[in-house]
Amino acid sequence: MTPENPSAITRPLPSALASVEADILRACVEARRDRASVTLIAVSKTFDAEAITPVIDAGQRVFGENRVQEAKAKWPGLMPAYPGLALHLIGPLQSNKAKEAVALFDAVHSVDRPSICEALAKEINSQKRRLELFVQLNTGEEPQKAGVAPAEADAFIAACREKYGLEISGLMCIPPVDEAPAPHFALTAKIAARNGLNNLSMGMSADFAIAIQFGATHIRVGSAIFGHR
Ligand SMILES: *Cc1c(COP(=O)(O)O)cnc(C)c1O
Repeated sequence: MTPENPSAITRPLPSALASVEADILRACVEARRDRASVTLIAVSKTFDAEAITPVIDAGQRVFGENRVQEAKAKWPGLMPAYPGLALHLIGPLQSNKAKEAVALFDAVHSVDRPSICEALAKEINSQKRRLELFVQLNTGEEPQKAGVAPAEADAFIAACREKYGLEISGLMCIPPVDEAPAPHFALTAKIAARNGLNNLSMGMSADFAIAIQFGATHIRVGSAIFGHR
């Protein structure tokens, strides 16, 4: 009998996490970077509390979700039992979900248009919360993908800061699936540097080692930890 998901059987979750950890460490050594300069965001979207708990028990504290409603259904039940958890929103945000997002998340990686800036600024001020904010770039200029076009990035970042009073912590990108990721990571790093931004959210299961070479400070890793979705 062929198991539907062989990786889930041969690799229980904590050991998949350990293997990702080993790969991060190796990439950091190769890039002459400190392991502490890279935050692993374990992307738990589509996985339930039962799948997430062993990963928390193995020591992981930073998690990523791509939908506000799904995160709201899952995480408030887990948080009281595990102090020190941090939750990052890595998927698109709608203005009408900003209130819930600001209340629940510690970081938003998908800041990419004025309406979101406005909604986030309003909620951050009224809830007196501090969130780490990343501007999402559409480095591949893919029409179906969220994110700011590279040519518009400088002006958008300036507007986030000056018009909306948002403190931007870094840039996020998702390279096109059918292209080598390195040029996209390099472009993201270049735009961040010229805008005085220190954080780079880039690299997923397939390419986080390359992203670390290009300076990623936040890698978003789902399937390599939790198995196939
Ligand atoms: C799902 C997702 C990830 C994780 O992808 P994997 O390939 O499973 O590691 C990272 N970033 C974003 C924005 C995602 O939606």
